[in-house]
Amino acid sequence: MNFTGKTAVVTGGSRGIGKAVCLELARGGANVVLCYAGNAASAAETVAECEALGAKALAVQCNVANAEEVKALMDTAISTFGAVHILVNNAGITRDGLLMTMKDADFDAVVDTNLKGAFYCMRAVARPMMRQRYGRIVNLSSVVGLRGNAGQINYAASKAGVIGMTKSMAKELATRGVTVNAVAPGFIETDMTAAMTDAAKTATLASIPMGRLGAAEDVARAVAFLASDEAAYVTGQVLAVDGGMAM
Ligand code: NAP
Repeated sequence: MNFTGKTAVVTGGSRGIGKAVCLELARGGANVVLCYAGNAASAAETVAECEALGAKALAVQCNVANAEEVKALMDTAISTFGAVHILVNNAGITRDGLLMTMKDADFDAVVDTNLKGAFYCMRAVARPMMRQRYGRIVNLSSVVGLRGNAGQINYAASKAGVIGMTKSMAKELATRGVTVNAVAPGFIETDMTAAMTDAAKTATLASIPMGRLGAAEDVARAVAFLASDEAAYVTGQVLAVDGGMAM
């Protein structure tokens, strides 16, 4: 896919799925602005790998749960590259626990990062994207947002919320050349899933028709399609990338 002349902001681009998205967009020629929470060394590696692919890239430390930091991130992207054409809301965390023992702080942290973070980012780019009559927004939801998961009520609520927000934004922005879609990955091999016990991995594998965990690149290619010109007539959709889990 060709992203020449386009600038993409990818939240959580220092590791995992976000990093794979940065590289996929860079491979297509996009300028990439990635943000990260605290892992500067990994963010610098993503920048170097994007540059090795011939793209321009910039890493910005930004907590997506902070509206002012998000505004500064988008201002930096626009002042550096002139515009933001693509936004990928990928930054996300888990703080798992069963309902009866879940702490308020763990519920709030997950919703603040995964749901409010995506809201802050979309709000910050909506006006410039509407003015330029072009935008591609891709939000990372999850199979857990579609089906629920014991021990993840905070995460499931945030990822189901992302789907509602995606569809509402798609309706608000449809006449302005801005599409808003979501990708719902299944179980993807990243740091986020590395902590799973072997028993949990075996049980998860049994629920995946394709019989394997996904790779970050599997998700990145779906994100890149939704971020491309080729997806101009696709909006408000949730694309599951999960080896058949959520059928
Ligand atoms: P990951 O490997 O844990 O990476 C998380 C990324 O988000 C890192 O770049 C991290 O930055 C960044 N981040 C975390 N909190 C942030 C904050 N407050 N502000 C800015 N950046 C922040 O995660 P992943 O597995 O690649 O997941 C990426 C997205 O896909 C998430 O939204 C996740 O919910 C979703 N997803 C993942 C799976 C899966 O199986 N892995 C399945 C479904 C959905 P630092 O490096 O600085 O910490």
